[in-house]
Amino acid sequence: MGNYRIAVIQGDGIGPEVTQEAVNVLKAVGERFQHNFTMEYALAGGCAIDACGECLPAETLTICKEADSVILGAVGGPKWDNVPNAQRPEKALLGLRAELELFSNLRPAKIYDALADACPLKADIVEGGLDILIVRELTGGIYFGERGYREGKYGIEAYDIEAYSEMEIKRILKNAFEVAMQRNKKVCCVDKANVLETSRLWRKVAEEMKNDYPEVDLSFMYVDNAAMQLVRNPKQFDVMVTSNIFGDILSDEASMITGSIGLLPSASLGEGTFGMYEPIHGSAPDIAGQNKANPIAAILSVAMMLKYSFHLEKEAEAIENAVKTVLEEGLRTPDIFSEGTSLLGTKEMGQAILAHI
Ligand code: NAD
Repeated sequence: MGNYRIAVIQGDGIGPEVTQEAVNVLKAVGERFQHNFTMEYALAGGCAIDACGECLPAETLTICKEADSVILGAVGGPKWDNVPNAQRPEKALLGLRAELELFSNLRPAKIYDALADACPLKADIVEGGLDILIVRELTGGIYFGERGYREGKYGIEAYDIEAYSEMEIKRILKNAFEVAMQRNKKVCCVDKANVLETSRLWRKVAEEMKNDYPEVDLSFMYVDNAAMQLVRNPKQFDVMVTSNIFGDILSDEASMITGSIGLLPSASLGEGTFGMYEPIHGSAPDIAGQNKANPIAAILSVAMMLKYSFHLEKEAEAIENAVKTVLEEGLRTPDIFSEGTSLLGTKEMGQAILAHI
Protein backbone atom coordinates (compact mmCIF):
# COMPACT_ATOMS: atom_id res chain seq x y z
CA MET A 1 0.00 0.00 0.00
CA GLY A 2 1.41 3.39 -1.01
CA ASN A 3 0.41 7.01 -0.65
CA TYR A 4 0.87 9.20 -3.69
CA ARG A 5 0.07 12.84 -4.26
CA ILE A 6 -0.78 13.75 -7.84
CA ALA A 7 -1.15 17.23 -9.30
CA VAL A 8 -3.83 17.21 -12.00
CA ILE A 9 -3.77 19.92 -14.66
CA GLN A 10 -6.78 19.39 -16.85
CA GLY A 11 -6.13 22.32 -19.18
CA ASP A 12 -8.31 23.31 -22.13
CA GLY A 13 -10.48 21.82 -24.88
CA ILE A 14 -10.67 18.04 -24.54
CA GLY A 15 -8.08 18.20 -21.70
CA PRO A 16 -10.67 18.05 -18.88
CA GLU A 17 -12.68 15.32 -20.64
CA VAL A 18 -9.78 12.91 -21.15
CA THR A 19 -8.14 13.73 -17.83
CA GLN A 20 -11.35 12.92 -15.98
CA GLU A 21 -11.37 9.42 -17.47
CA ALA A 22 -7.68 8.97 -16.61
CA VAL A 23 -8.32 10.03 -13.01
CA ASN A 24 -11.28 7.61 -12.77
CA VAL A 25 -9.07 4.77 -13.96
CA LEU A 26 -6.34 5.77 -11.48
CA LYS A 27 -8.88 5.67 -8.65
CA ALA A 28 -9.97 2.20 -9.73
CA VAL A 29 -6.33 1.06 -9.70
CA GLY A 30 -6.02 2.53 -6.19
CA GLU A 31 -9.02 0.53 -5.01
CA ARG A 32 -7.93 -2.71 -6.58
CA PHE A 33 -4.29 -2.54 -5.46
CA GLN A 34 -4.87 -0.71 -2.17
CA HIS A 35 -3.01 2.50 -2.91
CA ASN A 36 -4.00 5.95 -1.87
CA PHE A 37 -3.85 8.44 -4.74
CA THR A 38 -4.66 11.99 -3.66
CA MET A 39 -5.42 14.43 -6.49
CA GLU A 40 -4.75 18.15 -6.27
CA TYR A 41 -6.22 20.13 -9.16
CA ALA A 42 -4.35 23.09 -10.62
CA LEU A 43 -4.86 25.50 -13.52
CA ALA A 44 -2.59 26.02 -16.53
CA GLY A 45 -3.10 27.17 -20.11
CA GLY A 46 -6.06 29.14 -21.44
CA CYS A 47 -8.32 28.40 -18.47
CA ALA A 48 -5.62 29.85 -16.18
CA ILE A 49 -5.43 33.00 -18.34
CA ASP A 50 -9.21 33.37 -17.96
CA ALA A 51 -9.17 32.74 -14.22
CA CYS A 52 -6.09 34.69 -13.13
CA GLY A 53 -4.57 36.42 -16.13
CA GLU A 54 -1.54 34.18 -16.61
CA CYS A 55 -1.02 30.80 -18.25
CA LEU A 56 1.08 29.32 -15.44
CA PRO A 57 0.10 30.74 -12.04
CA ALA A 58 2.63 30.45 -9.19
CA GLU A 59 0.10 28.39 -7.21
CA THR A 60 0.11 25.75 -9.94
CA LEU A 61 3.88 25.44 -9.75
CA THR A 62 3.71 25.10 -5.98
CA ILE A 63 1.08 22.35 -6.22
CA CYS A 64 3.20 20.51 -8.83
CA LYS A 65 6.41 20.82 -6.83
CA GLU A 66 4.73 19.46 -3.72
CA ALA A 67 3.26 16.50 -5.63
CA ASP A 68 4.90 13.16 -6.43
CA SER A 69 3.90 13.53 -10.09
CA VAL A 70 1.79 15.56 -12.48
CA ILE A 71 -0.94 14.51 -14.91
CA LEU A 72 -1.68 17.03 -17.65
CA GLY A 73 -4.49 17.07 -20.23
CA ALA A 74 -3.73 19.61 -22.96
CA VAL A 75 -3.58 23.37 -23.23
CA GLY A 76 -4.46 25.98 -25.84
CA GLY A 77 -7.26 26.77 -28.24
CA PRO A 78 -8.54 29.40 -30.68
CA LYS A 79 -9.96 31.54 -27.87
CA TRP A 80 -6.41 32.47 -26.82
CA ASP A 81 -4.82 32.63 -30.28
CA ASN A 82 -4.53 36.41 -30.10
CA VAL A 83 -3.02 36.82 -26.65
CA PRO A 84 0.59 38.12 -26.68
CA ASN A 85 3.16 35.44 -27.52
CA ALA A 86 4.79 35.36 -24.08
CA GLN A 87 1.39 34.63 -22.51
CA ARG A 88 0.08 32.00 -24.91
CA PRO A 89 -1.41 28.95 -23.17
CA GLU A 90 1.25 26.69 -24.71
CA LYS A 91 3.94 28.68 -22.84
CA ALA A 92 2.67 26.97 -19.71
CA LEU A 93 4.15 23.69 -20.99
CA LEU A 94 7.62 25.16 -21.47
CA GLY A 95 7.35 26.84 -18.06
CA LEU A 96 6.37 23.58 -16.37
CA ARG A 97 9.18 21.62 -18.04
CA ALA A 98 11.78 24.25 -17.12
CA GLU A 99 10.57 24.85 -13.54
CA LEU A 100 10.19 21.16 -12.80
CA GLU A 101 13.57 20.43 -14.48
CA LEU A 102 12.12 17.81 -16.80
CA PHE A 103 14.90 17.17 -19.32
CA SER A 104 13.85 13.80 -20.64
CA ASN A 105 10.82 13.07 -22.79
CA LEU A 106 9.61 9.50 -23.17
CA ARG A 107 7.28 8.68 -26.02
CA PRO A 108 6.19 5.13 -26.62
CA ALA A 109 4.97 4.09 -30.04
CA LYS A 110 2.99 0.92 -29.71
CA ILE A 111 0.74 -0.91 -32.14
CA TYR A 112 -2.10 -2.98 -30.78
CA ASP A 113 -2.99 -6.06 -32.81
CA ALA A 114 -6.63 -4.98 -32.78
CA LEU A 115 -5.67 -1.69 -34.46
CA ALA A 116 -3.10 -3.04 -36.90
CA ASP A 117 -5.22 -1.67 -39.77
CA ALA A 118 -4.61 1.89 -38.58
CA CYS A 119 -0.86 1.49 -39.19
CA PRO A 120 0.21 3.00 -42.52
CA LEU A 121 2.98 0.41 -42.95
CA LYS A 122 2.52 -2.94 -44.68
CA ALA A 123 1.06 -5.58 -42.38
CA ASP A 124 4.11 -7.88 -42.51
CA ILE A 125 6.41 -5.09 -41.26
CA VAL A 126 4.54 -4.73 -37.96
CA GLU A 127 3.19 -8.25 -37.65
CA GLY A 128 3.22 -9.45 -34.05
CA GLY A 129 3.03 -5.90 -32.68
CA LEU A 130 5.40 -3.01 -32.25
CA ASP A 131 6.60 -1.41 -29.03
CA ILE A 132 9.23 1.33 -29.27
CA LEU A 133 10.14 3.94 -26.68
CA ILE A 134 11.79 7.15 -27.85
CA VAL A 135 13.75 9.01 -25.18
CA ARG A 136 14.31 12.58 -26.30
CA GLU A 137 16.56 15.15 -24.60
CA LEU A 138 14.24 18.05 -23.89
CA THR A 139 16.07 21.06 -22.49
CA GLY A 140 19.37 21.30 -24.38
CA GLY A 141 20.91 21.18 -27.85
CA ILE A 142 20.19 23.43 -30.79
CA TYR A 143 16.73 24.52 -29.57
CA PHE A 144 18.37 26.17 -26.56
CA GLY A 145 21.77 27.08 -28.03
CA GLU A 146 23.13 30.46 -28.99
CA ARG A 147 21.49 31.88 -32.11
CA GLY A 148 21.49 35.03 -34.12
CA TYR A 149 22.52 36.77 -37.32
CA ARG A 150 26.01 37.70 -38.44
CA GLU A 151 27.92 38.87 -41.45
CA GLY A 152 29.09 35.76 -43.34
CA LYS A 153 31.01 35.02 -46.52
CA TYR A 154 27.90 35.60 -48.66
CA GLY A 155 26.40 38.45 -46.64
CA ILE A 156 24.00 38.21 -43.72
CA GLU A 157 23.57 34.68 -42.37
CA ALA A 158 21.63 33.14 -39.51
CA TYR A 159 23.06 30.57 -37.12
CA ASP A 160 21.85 28.21 -34.37
CA ILE A 161 24.38 26.38 -32.22
CA GLU A 162 24.09 22.77 -31.10
CA ALA A 163 25.94 22.29 -27.80
CA TYR A 164 25.73 19.49 -25.23
CA SER A 165 27.64 19.16 -21.99
CA GLU A 166 28.77 15.79 -20.66
CA MET A 167 26.41 16.33 -17.73
CA GLU A 168 23.38 16.79 -20.00
CA ILE A 169 24.27 13.72 -22.05
CA LYS A 170 24.91 11.57 -19.00
CA ARG A 171 21.61 12.32 -17.32
CA ILE A 172 19.49 11.60 -20.40
CA LEU A 173 21.44 8.42 -21.17
CA LYS A 174 20.97 7.33 -17.57
CA ASN A 175 17.21 7.68 -18.04
CA ALA A 176 17.38 5.67 -21.26
CA PHE A 177 19.41 2.86 -19.68
CA GLU A 178 17.13 2.75 -16.65
CA VAL A 179 13.91 2.54 -18.67
CA ALA A 180 15.51 -0.08 -20.93
CA MET A 181 16.08 -2.18 -17.79
CA GLN A 182 12.29 -2.08 -17.27
CA ARG A 183 11.74 -3.16 -20.90
CA ASN A 184 13.66 -5.34 -23.36
CA LYS A 185 17.12 -4.08 -22.34
CA LYS A 186 18.11 -2.63 -25.71
CA VAL A 187 19.23 0.98 -26.22
CA CYS A 188 19.93 2.49 -29.63
CA CYS A 189 21.67 5.85 -29.42
CA VAL A 190 20.73 7.88 -32.48
CA ASP A 191 23.14 10.56 -33.68
CA LYS A 192 25.12 11.98 -36.58
CA ALA A 193 28.55 11.05 -35.29
CA ASN A 194 30.02 10.96 -38.80
CA VAL A 195 29.55 14.76 -38.94
CA LEU A 196 28.78 16.30 -35.55
CA GLU A 197 31.20 16.77 -32.66
CA THR A 198 28.28 16.75 -30.17
CA SER A 199 27.28 13.31 -31.47
CA ARG A 200 30.81 12.03 -30.93
CA LEU A 201 30.62 13.20 -27.32
CA TRP A 202 27.24 11.39 -26.95
CA ARG A 203 28.93 8.20 -28.19
CA LYS A 204 31.90 8.56 -25.85
CA VAL A 205 29.67 9.10 -22.83
CA ALA A 206 27.38 6.21 -23.82
CA GLU A 207 30.38 3.86 -24.21
CA GLU A 208 31.61 4.82 -20.75
CA MET A 209 28.19 4.37 -19.17
CA LYS A 210 27.40 1.00 -20.68
CA ASN A 211 29.65 -0.70 -18.10
CA ASP A 212 27.15 0.37 -15.44
CA TYR A 213 24.40 -1.48 -17.33
CA PRO A 214 26.01 -4.76 -18.43
CA GLU A 215 22.63 -6.32 -19.20
CA VAL A 216 21.73 -3.62 -21.70
CA ASP A 217 22.59 -4.12 -25.35
CA LEU A 218 23.83 -0.70 -26.57
CA SER A 219 24.00 0.18 -30.27
CA PHE A 220 24.50 3.37 -32.30
CA MET A 221 22.76 4.50 -35.46
CA TYR A 222 23.01 7.59 -37.64
CA VAL A 223 19.80 9.60 -37.60
CA ASP A 224 19.23 9.39 -41.37
CA ASN A 225 19.43 5.61 -41.17
CA ALA A 226 17.19 5.57 -38.07
CA ALA A 227 14.51 7.56 -39.92
CA MET A 228 14.64 4.96 -42.67
CA GLN A 229 14.75 1.94 -40.33
CA LEU A 230 11.65 3.18 -38.49
CA VAL A 231 9.59 2.53 -41.59
CA ARG A 232 11.64 -0.38 -42.97
CA ASN A 233 12.06 -2.53 -39.87
CA PRO A 234 10.76 -0.75 -36.75
CA LYS A 235 10.56 -3.95 -34.71
CA GLN A 236 14.36 -3.95 -34.31
CA PHE A 237 14.08 -1.09 -31.79
CA ASP A 238 13.32 -1.13 -28.08
CA VAL A 239 14.55 2.17 -26.56
CA MET A 240 15.89 4.87 -28.89
CA VAL A 241 17.68 7.75 -27.16
CA THR A 242 18.60 10.95 -28.93
CA SER A 243 19.11 14.70 -28.86
CA ASN A 244 16.37 17.31 -28.71
CA ILE A 245 16.11 18.05 -32.44
CA PHE A 246 16.50 14.44 -33.66
CA GLY A 247 14.02 13.26 -31.02
CA ASP A 248 11.51 15.88 -32.06
CA ILE A 249 11.47 14.54 -35.59
CA LEU A 250 11.81 10.80 -34.90
CA SER A 251 9.12 10.73 -32.21
CA ASP A 252 6.56 12.23 -34.60
CA GLU A 253 7.57 9.72 -37.26
CA ALA A 254 7.24 6.85 -34.78
CA SER A 255 3.86 8.06 -33.52
CA MET A 256 2.46 8.15 -37.05
CA ILE A 257 3.34 4.49 -37.46
CA THR A 258 0.80 3.65 -34.76
CA GLY A 259 -2.12 5.30 -36.54
CA SER A 260 -3.94 7.60 -34.11
CA ILE A 261 -2.82 10.54 -32.03
CA GLY A 262 -5.55 9.74 -29.51
CA LEU A 263 -3.71 6.61 -28.35
CA LEU A 264 -0.27 7.89 -27.46
CA PRO A 265 0.90 8.86 -23.99
CA SER A 266 4.13 10.58 -22.98
CA ALA A 267 6.25 11.22 -19.93
CA SER A 268 8.63 14.02 -19.08
CA LEU A 269 11.14 13.09 -16.41
CA GLY A 270 13.91 14.75 -14.44
CA GLU A 271 16.64 13.43 -12.15
CA GLY A 272 14.50 11.56 -9.62
CA THR A 273 11.22 9.75 -9.88
CA PHE A 274 9.11 12.88 -10.34
CA GLY A 275 7.50 13.18 -13.76
CA MET A 276 4.84 14.93 -15.79
CA TYR A 277 2.56 12.66 -17.80
CA GLU A 278 0.40 13.77 -20.70
CA PRO A 279 -1.13 12.57 -23.95
CA ILE A 280 0.86 13.70 -27.00
CA HIS A 281 -2.22 15.28 -28.58
CA GLY A 282 -3.36 18.86 -28.12
CA SER A 283 -6.65 20.29 -26.89
CA ALA A 284 -8.55 19.32 -30.09
CA PRO A 285 -10.93 22.32 -30.11
CA ASP A 286 -12.80 20.82 -33.07
CA ILE A 287 -14.23 18.03 -30.90
CA ALA A 288 -14.07 19.60 -27.43
CA GLY A 289 -17.17 19.24 -25.25
CA GLN A 290 -18.78 16.67 -27.55
CA ASN A 291 -17.83 13.45 -25.75
CA LYS A 292 -15.90 12.40 -28.88
CA ALA A 293 -12.27 12.50 -27.69
CA ASN A 294 -10.34 9.29 -27.27
CA PRO A 295 -9.28 9.09 -23.60
CA ILE A 296 -6.80 6.23 -24.18
CA ALA A 297 -3.70 8.45 -24.53
CA ALA A 298 -4.52 10.13 -21.20
CA ILE A 299 -5.29 6.79 -19.53
CA LEU A 300 -2.03 5.26 -20.80
CA SER A 301 -0.20 8.34 -19.50
CA VAL A 302 -1.38 7.29 -16.04
CA ALA A 303 0.02 3.80 -16.70
CA MET A 304 3.38 5.40 -17.55
CA MET A 305 3.26 7.37 -14.31
CA LEU A 306 2.67 4.22 -12.28
CA LYS A 307 5.55 2.49 -14.04
CA TYR A 308 8.22 5.17 -14.28
CA SER A 309 7.55 7.37 -11.25
CA PHE A 310 6.18 4.88 -8.74
CA HIS A 311 7.61 1.58 -10.05
CA LEU A 312 4.16 -0.01 -9.78
CA GLU A 313 4.59 -2.48 -12.62
CA LYS A 314 1.55 -4.68 -11.94
CA GLU A 315 -0.70 -1.67 -11.65
CA ALA A 316 0.60 -0.18 -14.90
CA GLU A 317 0.10 -3.51 -16.62
CA ALA A 318 -3.48 -3.71 -15.35
CA ILE A 319 -4.23 -0.47 -17.22
CA GLU A 320 -2.39 -1.53 -20.37
CA ASN A 321 -4.20 -4.86 -20.40
CA ALA A 322 -7.57 -3.18 -19.85
CA VAL A 323 -6.93 -0.94 -22.88
CA LYS A 324 -5.87 -3.92 -24.94
CA THR A 325 -8.99 -5.83 -23.93
CA VAL A 326 -11.46 -3.10 -24.88
CA LEU A 327 -9.75 -2.72 -28.24
CA GLU A 328 -9.96 -6.47 -28.78
CA GLU A 329 -13.65 -6.29 -27.87
CA GLY A 330 -14.05 -3.90 -30.79
CA LEU A 331 -14.88 -0.81 -28.72
CA ARG A 332 -13.85 2.40 -30.51
CA THR A 333 -14.02 6.16 -30.15
CA PRO A 334 -14.71 8.01 -33.45
CA ASP A 335 -11.00 8.58 -34.27
CA ILE A 336 -10.32 4.83 -34.47
CA PHE A 337 -13.77 3.66 -35.55
CA SER A 338 -14.12 1.34 -38.53
CA GLU A 339 -17.01 -0.71 -39.87
CA GLY A 340 -17.92 -3.69 -37.72
CA THR A 341 -16.71 -2.09 -34.47
CA SER A 342 -18.79 -0.43 -31.72
CA LEU A 343 -18.76 3.35 -31.43
CA LEU A 344 -18.38 4.84 -27.94
CA GLY A 345 -17.99 8.32 -26.49
CA THR A 346 -15.17 9.52 -24.25
CA LYS A 347 -17.00 8.70 -21.03
CA GLU A 348 -18.20 5.30 -22.19
CA MET A 349 -14.68 4.35 -23.35
CA GLY A 350 -13.30 5.42 -19.96
CA GLN A 351 -15.95 3.34 -18.18
CA ALA A 352 -15.26 0.30 -20.38
CA ILE A 353 -11.53 0.44 -19.57
CA LEU A 354 -12.22 0.99 -15.88
CA ALA A 355 -14.47 -2.07 -15.82
CA HIS A 356 -11.47 -4.22 -16.78
CA ILE A 357 -9.15 -2.95 -14.04
P1 NAD B 1 -4.53 18.50 -31.70
O1 NAD B 1 -3.69 17.36 -31.28
O2 NAD B 1 -5.29 19.18 -30.63
O3 NAD B 1 -5.58 17.99 -32.81
C1 NAD B 1 -5.18 17.48 -34.07
C2 NAD B 1 -6.30 16.58 -34.63
O4 NAD B 1 -6.34 15.36 -33.88
C3 NAD B 1 -7.69 17.19 -34.48
O5 NAD B 1 -8.47 16.85 -35.60
C4 NAD B 1 -8.27 16.55 -33.26
O6 NAD B 1 -9.67 16.46 -33.24
C5 NAD B 1 -7.60 15.18 -33.28
N1 NAD B 1 -7.38 14.68 -31.91
C6 NAD B 1 -6.46 15.10 -31.01
N2 NAD B 1 -6.57 14.43 -29.88
C7 NAD B 1 -7.58 13.55 -30.03
C8 NAD B 1 -8.19 12.58 -29.19
N3 NAD B 1 -7.77 12.35 -27.93
N4 NAD B 1 -9.21 11.86 -29.69
C9 NAD B 1 -9.64 12.05 -30.94
N5 NAD B 1 -9.11 12.95 -31.79
C10 NAD B 1 -8.09 13.70 -31.33
O7 NAD B 1 -3.59 19.52 -32.47
P2 NAD B 1 -3.91 20.97 -33.03
O8 NAD B 1 -5.29 21.00 -33.62
O9 NAD B 1 -2.75 21.32 -33.87
O10 NAD B 1 -3.89 21.92 -31.77
C11 NAD B 1 -5.05 22.36 -31.05
C12 NAD B 1 -4.59 23.19 -29.85
O11 NAD B 1 -3.83 22.36 -28.95
C13 NAD B 1 -3.68 24.34 -30.24
O12 NAD B 1 -3.98 25.44 -29.42
C14 NAD B 1 -2.28 23.80 -29.91
O13 NAD B 1 -1.36 24.81 -29.63
C15 NAD B 1 -2.57 22.96 -28.69
N6 NAD B 1 -1.59 21.87 -28.45
C16 NAD B 1 -1.35 21.57 -27.14
C17 NAD B 1 -0.51 20.52 -26.83
C18 NAD B 1 -0.29 20.17 -25.39
O14 NAD B 1 -0.98 20.70 -24.54
N7 NAD B 1 0.62 19.28 -25.07
C19 NAD B 1 0.07 19.75 -27.85
C20 NAD B 1 -0.23 20.06 -29.17
C21 NAD B 1 -1.08 21.13 -29.45
